[in-house]
Amino acid sequence: MEYNVEKIRRDFPGLDRSFYGHPMVYLDNTATSQTPRQVVEEIERLYYNHKANVHRGVSSISQEATDRQEATRRRVAEWIGAGSVEEVIFTRGTTESINLVAASFGQRFKEGDEIILTVMEHHSNIVPWQLLAMRTGIRLRVVPLGSDNSTLDFESYRLLFNDRTVMASFCHVSNVLGTVNPVSEMIAIAHSHGVPVLVDGAQAVPHMKVDVTALDADFYVFSSHKMYGPTGIGVLYGKRDLLESMPPYQGGGEMISSVSFGGTTWADLPFKFEAGTPDFIGIAALHRAIDYIDSIGYDAIYRHEKELLDYAVDGMKGIEGMRIFGNSPHKSAVISFLIGNAHHYDTGMLLDKLGIEVRTGHHCAQPLMRALGIEGTVRASLAMYNTKEEIDMFLLALRRIAPMLA
Ligand code: PLP
Repeated sequence: MEYNVEKIRRDFPGLDRSFYGHPMVYLDNTATSQTPRQVVEEIERLYYNHKANVHRGVSSISQEATDRQEATRRRVAEWIGAGSVEEVIFTRGTTESINLVAASFGQRFKEGDEIILTVMEHHSNIVPWQLLAMRTGIRLRVVPLGSDNSTLDFESYRLLFNDRTVMASFCHVSNVLGTVNPVSEMIAIAHSHGVPVLVDGAQAVPHMKVDVTALDADFYVFSSHKMYGPTGIGVLYGKRDLLESMPPYQGGGEMISSVSFGGTTWADLPFKFEAGTPDFIGIAALHRAIDYIDSIGYDAIYRHEKELLDYAVDGMKGIEGMRIFGNSPHKSAVISFLIGNAHHYDTGMLLDKLGIEVRTGHHCAQPLMRALGIEGTVRASLAMYNTKEEIDMFLLALRRIAPMLA
């Protein structure tokens, strides 16, 4: 079936903007994607007609809300290949999911234990472990980039494991380089040392089918707002035995079995990790985002984004002074670049004046910037609704501004 990008775009009214008299070309999908009307209409419908708190007793309206939230949990579990529905915990986002694992699972680690991270991590997969290190005295070991400055130095990764290694945590896809890491092999290596793994899937789930059971990930985390869903919702997948062995992360309503001043007992999974009222409307609407992705299909999305990526990179290579960061053969649709020695901010500002919405800066990956010997980049990132015409506008804009920046 032919990929009908115009039909897809009609579902995303948020794309219909202009800046400085130019139609907007939205190329900041790595930061957050736009949301289809199917999701927004569901949010509106639920707010107007079905607002009731979840897990709050016998009222029909509350029961309906609970059923909707739990239907999304089943949908997510089946969608990512989880072994059971109790292994899916709703959080506020990737960041909170990682903080939860670091704070709760991390309680078992002790001084001298080592956690392996990589240099291409987002700050949200670095700082929670640093906080843990401050509390416990664990050490962080970091996998560097290989000589291509795009992929991880796999041999270093292998060699970092020793009998003090207690955990490995790395991204599936880099938010700066677009590199798709060989997570399956990386997990197998960690497991051969008896080490559990957390995979940060924030930049994978919007673009590729993820099967946590096939990967054998111990924890897998992602954010709804990057995959066309509502803001403020995240998922933590964890293997049941690990989640069961972990203490609660936050205390409050819903995460308890019984409370007394003599002692409190915890609810069963998944509720043990879901203290307080969740964003039950957002969670229900996440269901529609998953349905939307499935209605287009990951294979079709991948082919479309890859075609645009190759077309954009080819066009950019012809521009004087263009430096592209991230040339892995397995690359998601993220293009980080600099033009000559121009500051990323100036490039981004000039692109903005032409309606091209990109991201500039360190992209919450300062250690990676340091490894690359730069302060920041301009980042153009694609989604299922971008078009070849938009890439042409992007390339035209780059050709216009490059001489000004030289
Ligand atoms: N991990 C990666 C790879 C990311 O790209 C991001 C956001 O850009 C995050 C984690 C943090 O996601 P959130 O801010 O939704 O928690």
